Order: sequence, then C-alpha cells, then structure tokens
Amino acid sequence: MGSFASSNLIYGLSEKSDGPMKGDFANQQSFFKQRNLDERKIIGADLAHDDKVMIVNSATSLRMIPNCDALITNDKNCLLTVTVADCLPIYFYDQQKQVVALAHAGWKGVLNNIAQKTALSLINNFSCNPANIKIFIGPHIQKCHFEVQGDVASQFAPKYLIETDDKKYINLAVAIKDQLVKTGLLADNISISSECTYCLKDKYFSFRRERDKIVKAMIAYIGLD
Ligand SMILES: [Zn+2]
Repeated sequence: MGSFASSNLIYGLSEKSDGPMKGDFANQQSFFKQRNLDERKIIGADLAHDDKVMIVNSATSLRMIPNCDALITNDKNCLLTVTVADCLPIYFYDQQKQVVALAHAGWKGVLNNIAQKTALSLINNFSCNPANIKIFIGPHIQKCHFEVQGDVASQFAPKYLIETDDKKYINLAVAIKDQLVKTGLLADNISISSECTYCLKDKYFSFRRERDKIVKAMIAYIGLD
C-alpha cells in the first residue's frame, strides 16, 4: 500500500478468504479480533451512494451511521469502516493533525463529489492543511472492467472515458484524484491501487462479476494507532 503507510496508522481491506462482510457483524468481529482491533469501537457508514460526511468518535451512540458514505475521526479508540465490492474505498490521513477518514464511492459518489466533500470537512473542521492530507484509493473495479452505458458515460468528462469495440469504460479513480487535486491536495500524496476487484476473482468479491442477489463485500477500515 506504498507511500500511504505510516507508523501512526492502521488501515486495510479484507479479502474474499475472510468471508463476506456486508451486514455480517459476527464475521466482521472475528476479522478484527484476528488483527487485535476488537477492543476499538467499530463505526460503519451505512452507504447511500450520496454525499453525506459524518464526524464520529467513541461517544457516538450508533455503530452504523445511516445514509452516510464517509466517516471522519480523530479518536484513537475508533475504527472507521465501509464495505465495498467494486466501489472505491478512499482512505485519508493527516499525520500533523492526527485525523483519519474513510469514504466509499461508486460512480454516483464520484458525481456527488464525496471524496472532495470529505477533504473539505477535514480542512474546515480539523484545520488540516490540504498539502498534508494523504490519500490511498484501494482495490476497486478498474477501467478494464467498469463498463457503462451511454446514460452514465454522458455524465462524466470525456477524459475519464475509455471507448473500445463500441463499449464504454470509466476510470473512476482518476476522476476522484482530479477532484482532490482541485481541493488543494497534492497529486504526489494520492496513491491508487492497481488491483481490479473484477480481475482478481480469487482475492476479492466483485458485485459486477458475481451478480449475486445478496451483495458479498469486503470491509475497508482505518484508525489511528
Ligand atoms: Zn479488471
């Protein structure tokens, strides 16, 4: 996970072998117990593909925040989570201010500027200098497999579209990176996983590939050490 890693930071993503995590709190608990993180308050965003960002801490009464796609905390006793199965987990860390955030974005979240709104909340509510915010965009469905129809494609700038053999694909990670750079973050502080959840069928769940009625998903997490 490259340049994002820091000694004060805990973050990661479960894999297919860890089992499905969406809505399966017993499985989440055993996954975090294996990593000695079960003493922390685990707070999840109950995803809506919208743009709501919530600041939480260990006094937050809820374990799942409804209608929310991004969480922020500066509380060491919290572990933030989102589930993903092709969507992009976006990890944020400011070492100076000791604050972390985690956002979930699919194509709707990208159009709703969820990553930019999370960065703005860090800047406005925690006085983060945008040049100090580091980003890791984790494994997700990449431009090799994120095929869309014309109605979705037309909502994105042409620079994010790849057209081959009459098919259209979108590069969501680059669209997110551009939004963050527009907000003042440094391109060098934004790293993007090259792993495609659709391609890596033994390692990750992929909603597009599996097309199950019940979504099987990985869990992304971040916290301060
Ligand atoms: Zn792929």
